[in-house]
Amino acid sequence: MVLISVEHTREWFESNKTAVRTLKAEDKCQNCGNEGEHLHHIVPLVVGGTNNLSNLAVLCAECHGKVHGNKRLLSKELQRKGIESALKKGVKFGRRAAELPENFKEEYDRWKAGEQTAVQTMENLQMKKITFAQSPRK
Ligand SMILES: [Zn+2]
Ligand SMILES: [Zn+2]
Repeated sequence: MVLISVEHTREWFESNKTAVRTLKAEDKCQNCGNEGEHLHHIVPLVVGGTNNLSNLAVLCAECHGKVHGNKRLLSKELQRKGIESALKKGVKFGRRAAELPENFKEEYDRWKAGEQTAVQTMENLQMKKITFAQSPRK
């Protein structure tokens, strides 16, 4: 068992990609079943996603390209794991919790209560981030 200290940053991911890929013992694309070499963040790091294995999906190059254009390709089960991983991290790592979008908990609860789909939840969170990024600083 290899223990590595995980940081939830893009830099950490890039420098530890090979190790993470080895730990994520999946050969097949989790979307289409072809050979998959790519690792995809189910909840993107920028909106509070983690580098935990539960937030990483193995995808082939083709599906990885598609998934960034259409979130619906990822199964609900994978999205659920990613969202839960992000939420756990938010609770556990207080320092990073502030970087979660402010509507994260609200959207998560709404999804948990069955009021909206995981896809809808993700879309709402993404939308919030885009709105936030484009709004001028006050
Ligand atoms: Zn695929
Ligand atoms: Zn990706």
